Amino acid sequence: MPGMTTPWGWQLLARDAVARCDQLVGEVVQAPPTVAVVRLLDEISDTLCQVLDAAEFCRNVHADAEWRRQAQQVCMEMGAYVQQLNVHFGLYSALARALREQQAAAAAAVGPAAAAAAAAQGWTPEAVLVGRMLQRDFERYGVHLQGEAQDRMNSLMERSQELGMRFTHSVVDPATLGTLQLTGGMAEAAQRLPLALRRRLQPLSNFSSGAVTGLAVSGDTPTLHSLLRNAADEGLRRAAWEACHQTPTSNLAVLDALVEARHDMAQLMGFPSYAEYQLDSFSLAGRPTAVGIFLERLADAIAPKAAAEASELGALKHRLLGGGGLQPWDKQYLVAAAEAGAGGSSSSSSGELGRHPAPQPTFRLEAVVEGLSELLRRSMGVSLQERPLGRGEGWASGVRKMEAVHETEGVLGTVYLDLVRRPHKFPSAAHFTLRCSRRLADGSYQMPVVALVANWGEHSELGLSEVETLFHEFGHALNSLLSRTEFQHLAGTRGPTDMVEVPSHTLELFASDPRVLSLIGSGAQGAARALSPEALQRAERARRRRFAALDQQQQLQFCLIDQLLHGPEPPTGQRAQREIAALMEQHSALPHAPGCHPHIRFSHIVGYGATYYSYLFAQCLSARIWQDHLVGDPTSRAAGELLRHRLLEPGGAKEAHCMVEDLLASPPSSSGSSGSTNTGSGSPSSSSGGGLCHAGGGYFPDPAAMLEQQGLLL
Ligand SMILES: [Zn+2]
Repeated sequence: MPGMTTPWGWQLLARDAVARCDQLVGEVVQAPPTVAVVRLLDEISDTLCQVLDAAEFCRNVHADAEWRRQAQQVCMEMGAYVQQLNVHFGLYSALARALREQQAAAAAAVGPAAAAAAAAQGWTPEAVLVGRMLQRDFERYGVHLQGEAQDRMNSLMERSQELGMRFTHSVVDPATLGTLQLTGGMAEAAQRLPLALRRRLQPLSNFSSGAVTGLAVSGDTPTLHSLLRNAADEGLRRAAWEACHQTPTSNLAVLDALVEARHDMAQLMGFPSYAEYQLDSFSLAGRPTAVGIFLERLADAIAPKAAAEASELGALKHRLLGGGGLQPWDKQYLVAAAEAGAGGSSSSSSGELGRHPAPQPTFRLEAVVEGLSELLRRSMGVSLQERPLGRGEGWASGVRKMEAVHETEGVLGTVYLDLVRRPHKFPSAAHFTLRCSRRLADGSYQMPVVALVANWGEHSELGLSEVETLFHEFGHALNSLLSRTEFQHLAGTRGPTDMVEVPSHTLELFASDPRVLSLIGSGAQGAARALSPEALQRAERARRRRFAALDQQQQLQFCLIDQLLHGPEPPTGQRAQREIAALMEQHSALPHAPGCHPHIRFSHIVGYGATYYSYLFAQCLSARIWQDHLVGDPTSRAAGELLRHRLLEPGGAKEAHCMVEDLLASPPSSSGSSGSTNTGSGSPSSSSGGGLCHAGGGYFPDPAAMLEQQGLLL
């Protein structure tokens, strides 16, 4: 932060921001019912976000404990202030008045003159969209509810937040997860595990006699998955699988309470379900019925390939391990075996696997960043140029500052790279927005600032999946850096959940294209040393396509469970178990093990309640974007400009379906019904022109390009 040299600077910064906002709140309440209200509210939001986002970042990544502590403190204090503003009736009614005036004026005037008049008053389409969205946001906090209803809303929100935290905490808390205890034959089998896993085994002793009775291993998810991949013994695999799908038991009750609280919230707001409440008109899907049609269609499309993959694994099990039908706990072991080349026609059938995975290319981190810059230069005329850090600008050693510089437009924004591992750092790869872009009064744009965080070793070599991760996060960063909206409220990644992942998934596709990989590898310090483009392509294809339908089917199951639990009659308790079992029976090529709960450790159900489908949407849309514009030449300038101006620049300032229609080759052909009358139940009539389908009262992507790209069709 400019001028901040000590951790106590956070307090001053927060105080200044709150004072400025108090003043702006006063202005909003006094303002005439014009677009000025929307501008002032956006200014409040920008003032708060600049401090809150930076503090949130600092508390997650700063190398110094005092900086983290002060930032955490500021996050809490400002969070409380933001909550007050979220239910500030004066702000809400000023906005509602301004929007009513705008609507009345729009209704009174018609034709091109009306649009001109609206624009003259500053009511651009984006200003209207931001206004409506801010109103929706206020209403989500129940600001428009009266007395008891508002109190009830507040307590439901607090309760769902607390339950969500409990659910996600239990998934990683060693105390709740406990250990997996291995006795008898399982303990013997455990002695044959690879060394790295054997090292994690602890002796299990009888509490009173102290005699060793077996072995215990931590019940955390990475350890259990490692067992599932490595244990040749079926009993051991089954035990690991059951631990993964039956513990932490407490999560079932927590989830029941969470979906009930969410349902009650939706009902208070006048929606029939939490999914309807989440998927309002600002999302691409628009309605859960559209999501349902999409998921069913995708499920049907991949079912034959998933069944074929399952029977391939069944045959492999027979060859490697002898009899017994395929079980859900076999999948990871057999997939690992198949990837290692075991069980092929020439391999032995001893059951002990010779695990020699095919060598994968690696890339030097430095070379990947250079390659990314080269890709952007060719496709958009934007290069990443390193700049020295100013005083007080860094937060740890090794942080690099790059400016995104356009060949004629100059500096577009700043991205900090903090990619090297260190203690107390945010544990996974992520993109943080530090300052959003927005148009300023003089017509220039506020410079966006973002940071990318990962945990790789210094000068480390990245494998293909890590390159893909970096490209994914860089897609989010580009969305913020290249965004050019009037209002910060809709800048960059602040669009609807089911659109936000599209840029990142599109960038991911670059990272799996051999032409782009060889661009990365061909730099001065390139790293694709001995591998020809053909070898890269082979490696990539092998990595991507093996048993992809079974993996995708699992994603679909999570999406379907997410929709089921947030539907109009959310099942809980025994009913939830029955309905989820039925869903698994219908949508899984592998048998469903009774008493297992596929979602018991599924933390995304908290953060992505009713919107987990967004990842599949993004895969379908990015595959289609690739097919329409990039497959011929991923570094093409024309395609790059299209991505910049139609996908990245608009942020969330364009209605989602309009943005998709503009991006794809041709507009969607409607099925004749304009939305709400076509509920899409039964056999939906829908259309899919140009990659976007319109049915069930909303929109969803045509999965064809994704199915083909990922090899999910028989
Ligand atoms: Zn992402």
